[in-house]
Amino acid sequence: MATVSLKNIVKRFGDVTTLHGIDLEIRDGEFIVFVGPSGCGKTTLLRTISGLEDISEGELQIGGVRMNELPPVKRGIAMVFQSYALYPHMSVFENMAFGLRLANMKKAEYTPIVQDVAKVLQLDHLLERKPRELSGGQRQRVAIGRAIVQKPEVFLFDEPLSNLDAALRVQMRIYIAQLHRKLGATMIYVTHDQVEAMTLADRIVVFQAGRLEQVGTPTELYYEPVNLFVAGFLGSPGMNFMTGSISAISSELITVALADGQSVHVAVDGSTAKVGDAVTVGVRPEHLLAGVADNCVSGKVVVLERLGDSSVLYVEHPGSAQPLAVRIPALKHVAVGETVTLGFKPQHGYLFNAQGIAL
Ligand code: ATP
Repeated sequence: MATVSLKNIVKRFGDVTTLHGIDLEIRDGEFIVFVGPSGCGKTTLLRTISGLEDISEGELQIGGVRMNELPPVKRGIAMVFQSYALYPHMSVFENMAFGLRLANMKKAEYTPIVQDVAKVLQLDHLLERKPRELSGGQRQRVAIGRAIVQKPEVFLFDEPLSNLDAALRVQMRIYIAQLHRKLGATMIYVTHDQVEAMTLADRIVVFQAGRLEQVGTPTELYYEPVNLFVAGFLGSPGMNFMTGSISAISSELITVALADGQSVHVAVDGSTAKVGDAVTVGVRPEHLLAGVADNCVSGKVVVLERLGDSSVLYVEHPGSAQPLAVRIPALKHVAVGETVTLGFKPQHGYLFNAQGIAL
């Protein structure tokens, strides 16, 4: 069983603490994705799991066995890096066989294994080539192949697709999803790409500044963020925020007076809130719509971004530090400079208290 259990993992570089006590239980066969802003510690955590970095405090278990003191080769893991880390002087075959040779396997034994995996990855006609004679996508498949031949129980991926162009990324993303289904191995995957995170993950882990903010399925994190940070981090463009204070609380609705004097109603549990509390109202770009009679806010369009399948309007609003982002159908005609009125349904609103915690 390749469960991966992180118990209060702390990592220090000198006197700087990069990971502040991470607790996480990763299930056997789970696809788990780490996201968070640059420098939050995603790669460091992956490297402590792999054994490339030691653990300052806490315990790592794989399959119920303590790993802290074991070298990378004894952990039953394989890692795929962003840079692929292929040996330039070795052929594709030699690169893929490298880990097996290190494990003292005989050539007669590893040759059919490498050939089989190469076939699956459609690399069988390229086995004699050197990495420089391959495309980016082919190199990337060699790096994945080198991991697969070792039959690890746990795969660690550190932004494996970030050097590929957009079309190839989509192809490889689907490929990795299929691979996961076929191998049933536990996969831990670091990415900056929200689409990769949302589509590949059984569960996503959001980190900030060396701390774990929330763990959940993509849907849970998107629709039930526990705090302002997670709400703002997931989604592209992210959730809109408007500041204000609570002016009334009923059993179903909380009324918020926004900074511009206007009131909006949000359907959240108000049991921990009081009239007068400072709050932030959140609403996703796809839930701010023209023609909704509730919670109307008006403002001037300052930017229009065409994304192909839809467009995003950015609308100035005095209650919000940033222009509000609004997703609209691609063919709808709205001009920059126009004033628009938008509304959102109370059940599409979020509320966060002064500490940023979701109500
Ligand atoms: P990115 O998304 O940019 O790759 P990340 O979330 O993966 O970032 P890490 O690479 O884990 O972040 O880095 C976390 C922090 O640890 C950073 O502040 C980084 O400077 C620091 N750090 C990483 N490796 C070392 C090291 N070997 N020595 C000192 N500090 C380090």
